[in-house]
Amino acid sequence: MIALHDTYYYWTHRLLHWKKIFKYVHKTHHLSLNPTPFSAYALHPVEALLDVSIIPIIVFTIPYHASAITIFSAYTLGMNVLGHTGFEFFPSGFTQHKIFKWHNTPTHHNMHHRYAKYNFSIYFNFWDRVMKTNHPNYENAFEKVIEQRNTLKAAAALENDPLEINMSLAEQEELLN
Ligand SMILES: [Zn+2]
Ligand SMILES: [Zn+2]
Repeated sequence: MIALHDTYYYWTHRLLHWKKIFKYVHKTHHLSLNPTPFSAYALHPVEALLDVSIIPIIVFTIPYHASAITIFSAYTLGMNVLGHTGFEFFPSGFTQHKIFKWHNTPTHHNMHHRYAKYNFSIYFNFWDRVMKTNHPNYENAFEKVIEQRNTLKAAAALENDPLEINMSLAEQEELLN
């Protein structure tokens, strides 16, 4: 189900980027250059319709357990919102790991909003790799985002750590004596 939607999404997304129709439909979504979770469903009605059309396709083509649709929808929503958070949740090395690299990251879709010619896929890094539409700098950019995240975390920890503050006070006192 997810693999089917992954393929469906990649190819309809590429179609939406086709010059002749981009400005009529998908441009609405690309108005957010640095997206937020609210951009996930900031779509033109035609694109929204195209997106949900996957449901009847699934219903009529593959046999599934009733709960599968719920899990599938939760995963879709999760990936969609994550992809627009502008925050990286995955650990360093994720995009170079021999299995995990096949799974997309928030950085991947965030880059699509800045470099619209790359990173069309939703869940898996499969079609972008096969069709050579992954941004050439994707892996580096991912590691840079992690680096920034860690620096921010370290800075926040320093600010909030009473021990650190006490230590510097003690150091100050020592200096005074
Ligand atoms: Zn987007
Ligand atoms: Zn797009």
